[in-house]
Amino acid sequence: MFDYHVHTEFSVDCKTPMRENCAAALAAGVTEIALTDHIDLRPSDPGYGYYRAEEYFASLERVRAEFAGQPLVILAGAEVDFHSQTETSVRAFIERYGSDYDFVIGSVHYAADGELIYPSTFASRTPDDVFADHFREVIRSVETGWFDTIGHMDIPKRYLPRHLRNYDPARYRELLGPVFDALIAQNMAFEINTSGIRQAPKASMPGPAIVRWYVDHGGSRITTGTDSHTAKTVGASVRETLEMLQLCGVTAVLSFRQRRGTPVAIGQLLGGISPDAA
Ligand SMILES: [Zn+2]
Ligand SMILES: [Zn+2]
Repeated sequence: MFDYHVHTEFSVDCKTPMRENCAAALAAGVTEIALTDHIDLRPSDPGYGYYRAEEYFASLERVRAEFAGQPLVILAGAEVDFHSQTETSVRAFIERYGSDYDFVIGSVHYAADGELIYPSTFASRTPDDVFADHFREVIRSVETGWFDTIGHMDIPKRYLPRHLRNYDPARYRELLGPVFDALIAQNMAFEINTSGIRQAPKASMPGPAIVRWYVDHGGSRITTGTDSHTAKTVGASVRETLEMLQLCGVTAVLSFRQRRGTPVAIGQLLGGISPDAA
């Protein structure tokens, strides 16, 4: 199993040392982990200036040495916040550091007006407006070609007001066609972010409906990640996600090295895990 979205003490909102995440990954049956800390390039963001790339890579080398010989591949990763308002800074970061990583997630965390996507986002807007703006921004992030995968593609659903939690993704199916077109044109993946399963949506971000439409659209590039901010959720719900993907007609997930993704058969991943370890 691959957990390609894990935060460490190099993220402003996380205190978990890399070594604890890696030990938890081994215990959970995860065979490849990507340590993907936040790269926040918006000056007003609490994480702005927090990430120190040189220290991150030095720490990664130490933890790789510590886990050498264990059945765990530890990838250099990043979760880069993307927004068209901060595109110049994102470009500078990617140009400077992009080739140092194995795997880079592009995630949209801010709404069109530059406010963090949060419950308050829905105070003055309809879900339709929020999702339409959000997917436009996601398309821009894909069109840059700077990322390997798109993080939590339908994250606004995480913050929907309680009375709108049953919001049907079919309402924005038409908006997703251009997202899929852009992803396929760029040969870019999107992730199944399992954190939604343990949070309010009670479903992965995105969930099976969107995966099914993507497959119908001709797409096949998917990554899996837990978005863990604590060691205890490393690997959480990845196995059931692989089973969900199979039911949706996805036969492989991507494994990355030095920014290159290789499909690995889901059947092979599921076959390699004993039920006790799941
Ligand atoms: Zn994120
Ligand atoms: Zn994250």
